[in-house]
Amino acid sequence: MRGLSDRVRALKPSATVAVNAKAMALRRQGVDLIAMTAGEPDFDTPAFVKEAAIRALAAGKTKYAPPAGIPELREAISAKFKRENGLDIPPEATVVTVGGKQALFNLFQAILNPGDEVIVIGPYWVSYPEMVRFAEGVPVEVRTGPESGFIPDPAEIEHRITARTKAIVVNSPGNPTGAVYPKEVLVAIAELANKYDLYIVSDEIYEHLIYEGEHFSPGLVAPERTITVNGAAKAFAMTGWRIGYAGGPREVIQGIIDVSSQSTTSPDTIAQWAMVEALNNVEEAQKFIQMAREAYRARREIIVEGLNALGLPTPRVSGAFYVLSDVSRIHPDEGQAALRLLEEARVAVVPGTDFAAPRHVRFSYATGEAQIQEALRRIAAIL
Ligand code: GLU
Repeated sequence: MRGLSDRVRALKPSATVAVNAKAMALRRQGVDLIAMTAGEPDFDTPAFVKEAAIRALAAGKTKYAPPAGIPELREAISAKFKRENGLDIPPEATVVTVGGKQALFNLFQAILNPGDEVIVIGPYWVSYPEMVRFAEGVPVEVRTGPESGFIPDPAEIEHRITARTKAIVVNSPGNPTGAVYPKEVLVAIAELANKYDLYIVSDEIYEHLIYEGEHFSPGLVAPERTITVNGAAKAFAMTGWRIGYAGGPREVIQGIIDVSSQSTTSPDTIAQWAMVEALNNVEEAQKFIQMAREAYRARREIIVEGLNALGLPTPRVSGAFYVLSDVSRIHPDEGQAALRLLEEARVAVVPGTDFAAPRHVRFSYATGEAQIQEALRRIAAIL
């Protein structure tokens, strides 16, 4: 009989993607909307990267790529892991994916059996628990809050480890909190993986967007157990190019590759050549990343100060380009608060519900300063 699978019926579509699509649709209808929804840099992809894509296209590099990615890009990824993260991951232990998201999706498909538990630290990115459930795993939430700056207590994580635990997901700098975990915390979590023989899934997509503190890769402490995931989108303003990558234990990487071979075959070949340039042209890449980081830093001050001044408590966090703001003053229910912001203030945000952040909404400040100022004026008007 016709009908959707139970698996798909149970799947919750991504709130970040849904709210952003709604914002884009409203804009197309001519609604004057300030979209602070998706974590999408407002900068254009840097010219040196675009030119590499144009060269690849002109040279006819338009054919299938191997499911693991083109060898040149795997070499560039391996070199990047060494140069920027200190990680020793040979090209054969890397994989190129359709955004960091596919690396994570395939990864959970590759490592989870039904009933296996994965520890996720909330508030978390909406897709981690759904990807785990889709792979028939069980997400186990460790909660953090603004009082600890959204930094988890490793002892609490240890307390939640059971015989069924397979992995711990770490995302520092984090979405949607902006928290940057101190090195000691990351070391302690990685040591738990070593002690209990677990995987660490380290999503490092925001590594370059740190305003205080430094990035640290847990793969340095648990190299045999950590899968480090990253991508082009946030660092190089390449959201639409859909290039992500991962590196780690070979059997897990092979699992990711095998799932790709039966689903997407390979990421876009032209975009892969552009990514080779983004990673290997270190000087141009650093110039772009620094420019963007300084812009986000200035915007963070405006939004954190502005929201707090409006009576919407918003911690000043150290990384990524998100803030979680307590919007109880607008409406006690965050979904309703987000709706009021959209309908009355014409400011689009993502409600905290699917991030496990009740009473909060997420503002992305990867948007221009003038727009942030205007959003604050509009919110003030409805208050
Ligand atoms: N990761 C970004 C966000 O949280 C992009 C949308 C998505 O894939 O969730 O807004």
